[in-house]
Amino acid sequence: MIRWEHQDLHTRSPFGIARWTHSTYPRSFVYFEEGGLVGRGEAAPNAFYGETGETVKVIGPLLEDALGDPWDWQGLHSRLAARMPHHHPSVKCALEMAALEWCAVSANLPVWRLLGLSDVPIPESSYTVSLAELPDMRRQAHDAWDSGHTILKVKLGTEHDQQIVEALREEVPQARLRVDANAAWSRPQARRMLGVLEALDVELLEQPLAADDLDGHAALRALARLPIIADESLHHVSDVPRLAAAFDGINLKTAKLGGPLQALSALRTARALGLGIMIGCMIESSLGIAGAAHLAGLADWADLDGALLLADDPFGGLEWQAGHLARPSGVGWGVSQR
Ligand SMILES: [Mg+2]
Repeated sequence: MIRWEHQDLHTRSPFGIARWTHSTYPRSFVYFEEGGLVGRGEAAPNAFYGETGETVKVIGPLLEDALGDPWDWQGLHSRLAARMPHHHPSVKCALEMAALEWCAVSANLPVWRLLGLSDVPIPESSYTVSLAELPDMRRQAHDAWDSGHTILKVKLGTEHDQQIVEALREEVPQARLRVDANAAWSRPQARRMLGVLEALDVELLEQPLAADDLDGHAALRALARLPIIADESLHHVSDVPRLAAAFDGINLKTAKLGGPLQALSALRTARALGLGIMIGCMIESSLGIAGAAHLAGLADWADLDGALLLADDPFGGLEWQAGHLARPSGVGWGVSQR
């Protein structure tokens, strides 16, 4: 039996990036029940990848019968794609998560062990400073640093980005800073900002230019001393080879790629091509974050703070100490309903 629950989640403060600022995030949770066991998954739709809370409600039930035998999880993505060729990645992610957890619970294992992954620690996660008025961004950075977060990912994409990064470098001089322009810069602005970021000791730059501007990214990368990471340019595992010519690394998110197995496949292809790996997330509950956390020991950079930003996370059980997330040790995804 398959059951969906739809719930609006809320961030503690409005969360802003270059494209929008929101406080409410429609999320859908799927429960696959068979033989007294339950597997769970989360859909965290994002309009940039062609989904909304409403599309998830319509598409989810159309794909349920693809689950079939959950032990055939290797073939699940093909069955989902046969029923829904259009991407709809977060719905597919939810169903893939549910199949994986059901099998892991049957085997009394954490999902990462079911997948044959080794027990290596997750790199320290960054904590996001969302785009807002400058005093607000200073306060966010200050509060995060005070709570023990040493890596901050700063959202940019304005005409005064230089001023923002200078102010935050002054506010938290010891912090490791990463920046994410969310595809908002022009090529000249990106070239200008490169010098600013390098002078302020920023560690990496995520998605400076438009998603389809691979030539622009390749030219920028040729000038850069810090790694440039693709996020919006990556929708599907088949994008990875093209991105290797334009970026130093890729940001893998289960909700945009179609699930943890799709992310794992992209990760392996990316490694073969010499790319660095970031495991990232949407604003999603601890269930969705767990789906990424089980892979995150394989990453160079972790950005898994989505659930930490929520006021009403319906799941608990992930063990955080400031930016350090412990590898989940419980059976299945290792999280429980609050
Ligand atoms: Mg990003």
